[in-house]
Amino acid sequence: MRQLPTRTADVVIVGAGVQGTALALHLARRGARVAVLDRASVGAGATGSSSGFVRMHYDLLLESELAWRSFPWFTDWSERVGDGDCGFVRTGFLQLVPPGEADALRANVAAQQGIGIETSVISASDAAALVPGLRVDGVGVGAWEPRSGYADPTGTAAGLLAAARRHGATYAGGVTVTSIRVEHGRVAGVATDAGELASPVVVDAAGAWAADLAHTAGVDLPVVPWRHDTAYLGLPADRPDGIPIVLDHARSVYFRPEGRDLLLVGLEDGNETGGSPDRPLGTPDDGLMATLVDRVVSRVPWMAGGDFRSAARGQDGMTPDQRPILGPVGDAGPDGLVLCCGFSGTGFKTAPAIGESLAEWILDGEPRTIDLRRFGLDRFAAGRLVEGEHPYQSLWR
Ligand SMILES: Cc1cc2nc3c(=O)[nH]c(=O)nc-3n(C[C@H](O)[C@H](O)[C@H](O)COP(=O)(O)OP(=O)(O)OC[C@H]3O[C@@H](n4cnc5c(N)ncnc54)[C@H](O)[C@@H]3O)c2cc1C
Repeated sequence: MRQLPTRTADVVIVGAGVQGTALALHLARRGARVAVLDRASVGAGATGSSSGFVRMHYDLLLESELAWRSFPWFTDWSERVGDGDCGFVRTGFLQLVPPGEADALRANVAAQQGIGIETSVISASDAAALVPGLRVDGVGVGAWEPRSGYADPTGTAAGLLAAARRHGATYAGGVTVTSIRVEHGRVAGVATDAGELASPVVVDAAGAWAADLAHTAGVDLPVVPWRHDTAYLGLPADRPDGIPIVLDHARSVYFRPEGRDLLLVGLEDGNETGGSPDRPLGTPDDGLMATLVDRVVSRVPWMAGGDFRSAARGQDGMTPDQRPILGPVGDAGPDGLVLCCGFSGTGFKTAPAIGESLAEWILDGEPRTIDLRRFGLDRFAAGRLVEGEHPYQSLWR
């Protein structure tokens, strides 16, 4: 049987994805005794299959703020983290929207500029000039972030975990938390398949499994598995240089370069939600892959000369408003249970800032750096779902 590296901790974090590891680093730096447990390994969940976009464009300013506060962690990794490498690659980021969403995009960009984000509204023809060969039919306007890019999600989580351990956190992989232990209305620790670990605070950072874990403490979370396919296509020899990330709401497709020879492509629609997170992930079906290739070729016809290399499926936890659930569980469950889940397919880039503010919430009683309270679990019972100030219609942002 596996051994736990410790039997007591100030905070137990269940899940060594990017969110659990970012939180572990912030807590450990502030002197808390943190234990991170994962039933598989670091980055084994959504993090390991993430497309790794690091961009600031959202229709909710609070999410842009979280991404913006997190951004220097990716660009100044060695100064901020000091272990491993997040592998940030600056490509620029182009958000395209159909004419019906043009006003919303303009308003979102203005709000983002107001908090210092380097972003601007560009016309469809400017977008075509940025990405040689880009066809812009159906595009109203775009937002252009010249400093954004992508990072390596598993490398990011592994580096955050290594830094947390340097600051005293402990980690055990291959350990499943079977239940959250509750005594007299308070969290007392966790039971695992390697024994018990006592702690007054347990953080549910279990990704697609977050609802299953919370259920062991008698808490119902509105988090369901959301599955998302991506593919790597080989770039043709005559592709242009300097391909940025393109997130295309008009065609519900996104793509970005991966190194020098590959294009990573994903669809924004047609993703499966619900079911058990434990059912096999399987492989993306041929029909979906054909749609994905059609959409990318219709935007950048030079990809007709590309070839199919591989496809993969990942899963994250999805909430009814597609925003995370953060902070103490409150009246819905035992004292000491903290939620860090429901990232709904978009929680890679925001992890450093969420970890910082959630660590404050746990240690100081309130999230001071960025006020995360709008993301509390109580919003669902109160009917206060979080909506963007200038919302887009798309299912997934
Ligand atoms: C295909 C795909 C593409 C994406 N692209 C982007 C993107 O470009 N940009 C972006 O910002 N976001 C993106 N996302 C979303 C982002 O990757 C996730 O929101 C983020 O990685 C969530 O991290 P996490 O730490 O909350 O969860 P996870 O990475 O899922 O980690 C949860 C961990 O908990 C562990 N666990 C679960 N239950 C237990 C238990 N009982 N005991 C012990 N351990 C347990 C699991 O093994 C897992 O390692 C994408 C997601 C997917 C699926």
